[in-house]
Amino acid sequence: MRRLFIAGNWKMNTTAAEAAALADAVASGAKEDDVDLAVCPPFVYLINVAEALKGSRVALGAQNMYFQPKGAFTGEVSAAMLTDVGCRYVILGHSERRHVIGEADDLIRAKVKAAVEAGLSPILCVGETLEERETGKTLSVVERHVREGLAELDGDAVRGVTIAYEPVWAIGTGRNATPEQVQEVHKKIRDLLSRIYESAVADSVRIQYGGSVKPDNAGDILAQPDVDGALVGGASLKADAFLAIARAGSRLKAEG
Ligand code: PEP
Repeated sequence: MRRLFIAGNWKMNTTAAEAAALADAVASGAKEDDVDLAVCPPFVYLINVAEALKGSRVALGAQNMYFQPKGAFTGEVSAAMLTDVGCRYVILGHSERRHVIGEADDLIRAKVKAAVEAGLSPILCVGETLEERETGKTLSVVERHVREGLAELDGDAVRGVTIAYEPVWAIGTGRNATPEQVQEVHKKIRDLLSRIYESAVADSVRIQYGGSVKPDNAGDILAQPDVDGALVGGASLKADAFLAIARAGSRLKAEG
């Protein structure tokens, strides 16, 4: 049975004080014990947020890392640095890194491998642009992102990876993929995992959806059989909204 996993991607937002206050509010409001929760603040606030989350049910994640262990890589942060400050998760291959910063599949693959080797659980983001969707390329793009991102991992290692399906056209736009569109792609990802590895691996990998998830649409999305959680951007900057998304997932579980 896959546990629901709701993660907040704070992106390049908050001050140090705001980050600590937001983490405090999420930590103290997180009651559901059937949903895994994580928040991913900017690098510079990881230590402040780790402190605020201490003793709570909420895990810490980072939004990126570099694949080299250390050395002359100005401006970069290693996997070991992230574990050192208490991170359990790291978001890799986010569409803003792919399309704004220009990260390619081979770099993302190296990061996924380095993260797993360091004991971090990667959240590998995959997803098509609007043009790719409109020209019928959604499934081939998602398949390429999944295959390329996981290429260095064996089945055992893949069990520790979360895949986040994030159609680029639905991120930060307020545009929603329908629950049926989400389920279609998630099912294809799971089928692909069972072809590459085996069905037991495919059944254990969590596949989150990300793209303008809010309290009012979370229930319908999380109810889809192959949706195991959400990667939440904008709505994760308000503790109430983020916790309401977690509650929507928990309620579904309770209803069976
Ligand atoms: C994201 O940044 O991963 C994301 C899904 O953002 P938003 O929820 O704002 O669309």
